[in-house]
Amino acid sequence: MPFKHSASYSLIVIGGGMGGLMVIFDLLTRLEKLDGHKKIRILLINSDEKPACSQSSSAVAAVRAAVQANGPMAKILLQAFDLAQVFYKRHAPLGMLAGKLVHPCPQDVTSKAYANFCRKYSRPLPLDWQGIPAPFGGQRSILGQSEEAFFFSPAIFLNFLQERVQASKHELNILNQEVSEIVSDERGHCIKTVAGPEFEFSAPVLYLAPGAYAFSILQLLPAGKISCGGYYEISPWPLQKESFAVHDDELQITYRGDTSSLLIGNLNWEMGESASQEDKYELLQKGKNYLQRLGVAWPLQAQVQWREGKRSKGPGRRPILMSGSALENLREGIDSCGKIFYLNGLYKNGFLLPFYFAPMLAEAIKKALINEGLVDKT
Ligand SMILES: Cc1cc2nc3c(=O)[nH]c(=O)nc-3n(C[C@H](O)[C@H](O)[C@H](O)COP(=O)(O)OP(=O)(O)OC[C@H]3O[C@@H](n4cnc5c(N)ncnc54)[C@H](O)[C@@H]3O)c2cc1C
Repeated sequence: MPFKHSASYSLIVIGGGMGGLMVIFDLLTRLEKLDGHKKIRILLINSDEKPACSQSSSAVAAVRAAVQANGPMAKILLQAFDLAQVFYKRHAPLGMLAGKLVHPCPQDVTSKAYANFCRKYSRPLPLDWQGIPAPFGGQRSILGQSEEAFFFSPAIFLNFLQERVQASKHELNILNQEVSEIVSDERGHCIKTVAGPEFEFSAPVLYLAPGAYAFSILQLLPAGKISCGGYYEISPWPLQKESFAVHDDELQITYRGDTSSLLIGNLNWEMGESASQEDKYELLQKGKNYLQRLGVAWPLQAQVQWREGKRSKGPGRRPILMSGSALENLREGIDSCGKIFYLNGLYKNGFLLPFYFAPMLAEAIKKALINEGLVDKT
């Protein structure tokens, strides 16, 4: 649709990654349940100049290591996993598969690596390799831990969310443009973009999920610490329809059954703003050697692609969730009308935590839309 100068919307969302789209999806599901006839108009703004981390993510949702390491976050992560399960059963989403994640334990019980394993995953047990093809594991009778996990193919899953939203009676417009500024007053928010006054939009309600690029919208928005992550994607690697992963020492081997691709990543990488050539080379060699030792044959026609994204890590690895009055303090004028919501700092759990935060944000946004008279209450 043609975008007009100062086009106005009911809701503007900045950020079309997991943090943005899961909330829009949940909101639209809630609005569909209302009997009202009012139709809301949503504008979702993304920018290719600020590539979504969600599109370059290994995107495995699992809880064991995270729950052991993140004391205060454990309850939230476990609830998020339960909610992911409910979502999976209810919507049968494309791009989201249930599968197994296996953590083999270092063999030398006197080693530091063994002690670290016990701290991270608790006491190792005989491993059940069912669902994981030989030679990725089936032949090894060793100790470790295994858990159920969800495996996302980000492009397919995000597209599924977007298409479901577009199929609703409400209107979703998507714009690829870089936001440069937000100006707010008592009537609402005006979103300015780098494309100039032809691309300015207004809405009474605003939701921000800009990930690592929060500073590009407003320098004071809390974005946490930025940490780059990356992995190699090798495809086509035709193996089986089921997804699985093996996290062995630092290596993270993930198989996506729906796209027939194998990912090689490093669990403990903290690469600052971007990965060096040496880091990348070392990871690929390590992955190749590991697979060779297991006797896994590298497919002849496979393409090897490097993918990386910028994650934002909230203080103490906690996500940053804010609304109206808290954001108001950041800069005079940003939220004089109070209808602004913000989620960030999802760090390494960006494909899990939105299942927990989306319902509460969607409910709050729904109430804000009702208060504005944009949605019927019933
Ligand atoms: C290599 C790697 C592996 C990972 N593995 C996992 C994993 O296994 N499990 C897991 O749960 N998580 C994992 N993560 C983390 C997860 O991917 C992120 O936490 C999550 O994707 C963050 O989502 P988000 O929506 O907050 O941000 P993003 O996906 O980065 O989305 C931000 C959006 O905001 C838009 N935007 C920002 N600023 C502007 C602006 N000024 N104007 C217009 N648009 C703007 C961007 O275009 C983008 O669409 C991994 C991340 C990486 C990089």
